[in-house]
Amino acid sequence: MEISENIKKHIEELGEKVSLVAISKTKPESDLMEAYQAGQRVFGENKIQEMAEKWENLPKDIQWHMVGHVQRNKVKYMAPFVTLIHAVDSLKLLKEINKEAEKNERIISCLLQIKIAEEESKFGLEAEEAKEILASDEFIELKNIQITGLMGMATNSDDEAKVRGEFDYLRSVYVDFKKKQPQFEVLSMGMSGDYKIAVSCGSNMVRIGSAIFGERNYN
Ligand SMILES: *Cc1c(COP(=O)(O)O)cnc(C)c1O
Repeated sequence: MEISENIKKHIEELGEKVSLVAISKTKPESDLMEAYQAGQRVFGENKIQEMAEKWENLPKDIQWHMVGHVQRNKVKYMAPFVTLIHAVDSLKLLKEINKEAEKNERIISCLLQIKIAEEESKFGLEAEEAKEILASDEFIELKNIQITGLMGMATNSDDEAKVRGEFDYLRSVYVDFKKKQPQFEVLSMGMSGDYKIAVSCGSNMVRIGSAIFGERNYN
C-alpha cells in the first residue's frame, strides 16, 4: 500500500503545473503496477533494456521516459515507444535518435541535459554548447526529433543555497533559450532529495524514485 500512498501524496503536493515522473529503475513490475493502480502513468528508467522489457509486459497507456545516459547503439530498442528522452548531451546522439525515430515513423521528444552541478560530472552540456547545437544547420535538418526543453541534476548536497543556485541558473538558461525555441515546455529538475527546492525554482517536471518506491539496492 505504501507505494500507492506515496504516489497520491506526491500528485497532490505537486499540483497540476508540475508533472511527476515516477523513477522505477531496478524496481519489479509489481511495484510499477501498484503505482499504476494509484493513477500514475508516467514512469522513468535509466537503462534502455530494462525499460523495453517493462514496456513489453505492462499496460500500453504507460508513458516511458528515459532519464539516464543514453548509449547510441541502444537507441533502437526504445525508439518504437519512448515518450521523452531527458538526458541528451550531443548532436551525435540526436542524429541517432532521429534516424531510429524515422524508421519508426515517429517524432521523438528530447530534452538537452545541461551541466549545473559543481562536481565534475561526466554528462551534460554547457549552456553555450547546447545553444550551438540548437542553432546548427545539422540540427535543424533533423525532422524526427523535437527538443521540448532542458534537464539538469544539482549537486548532491545538504547545502540548500548551493542547490538553489544551480536550479536558479538552469531556470534562467531555460527562459533564455525559450525566446528562440517557442516549443520549449519542459524544465525537468528535482529528485527525491531536492524536488521541493527545484519546484520553487520553476521546475515543471520532477523525477522522483526512492521517495515513492523506497531505497534502491543498486543503481
Ligand atoms: C535515479 C534518478 C532519479 C531519481 O532519484 P531519487 O533520488 O531516487 O528520486 C532522478 N533522475 C535521474 C536522472 C536518475 O537517474
